[in-house]
Amino acid sequence: MVENSYSVENLKFKYDNGKNILDNLSLNFKKGKITGIIGPNGSGKTTLIKNLSRILNPNSGKLYLFGKELSKYKQKELALNTGVVFQERESEFQFAVFDIVMMGRYPYKKKFELESAEDYAVVVDALEKTNTYHYRNRYLDELSGGEKQRVLIARALAQEPKVLILDEPISHLDLHYQVEILRMIQDLAKMKEMSIIIILHDLNFAYKFCDQLILLNNGNLYKEGIPEEVITRENINKVYNVDIEIIKDNKNNGYHIIPAY
Ligand code: ADP
Repeated sequence: MVENSYSVENLKFKYDNGKNILDNLSLNFKKGKITGIIGPNGSGKTTLIKNLSRILNPNSGKLYLFGKELSKYKQKELALNTGVVFQERESEFQFAVFDIVMMGRYPYKKKFELESAEDYAVVVDALEKTNTYHYRNRYLDELSGGEKQRVLIARALAQEPKVLILDEPISHLDLHYQVEILRMIQDLAKMKEMSIIIILHDLNFAYKFCDQLILLNNGNLYKEGIPEEVITRENINKVYNVDIEIIKDNKNNGYHIIPAY
């Protein structure tokens, strides 16, 4: 039986008395797999991962992480299990890159405990994996959007979480780094059994790199399953209101998804 990292049961969430943004969502995220969350702008993807990372709390429903209710986790215990990379956050810009990535080690430290040789080694490894080591003494606000994004991924890696949640982690990256970061994420899932939950806009990458996909539409689950079951002409047409073609690529044993103009 495949174990779950997160399980979501009848999750409802609304912002300050507005309408339900997430409406009775029930989902399972498989352990050690890459689960992509796709769906149009405003369909509730970021709101869902904010509920998973406890930045927002559901109005009703239950969330479990490795079988234990999410609300029962202590903050530090949660940080040891789940690392999150959101879009850039202004408050961190006045720190040097190395210090930002070292922040990923804080959940492992007692109050006032100094960084160990192991912490340094993990931080250097995270910087090297994301190709940001050469920026280590620069300030985050001196870096480009794509460089910042890689530094924030490095910080989450330094946290060595069991679940890594990523909100559009490749949106500011050039093609080379998009592929590089997605390959690295694949390795983490395969080699370290890390569970990955990733919001992706690019349906081609979602198809190629994810084991499972969740397609959201207006805060509801439209379809979940393996990419072939979720990214179909019919589903995409219904949810995105665009006609696509799915073309078999015999050379690479894959598929290309293109809008049918
Ligand atoms: P997605 O990530 O799929 O683009 P979001 O989860 O960001 O969608 O947003 C879902 C809906 O919630 C949108 O209609 C958006 O306008 C609304 N929303 C997002 N953040 C807030 C907020 N802080 N306050 C009120 N409404 C919000």
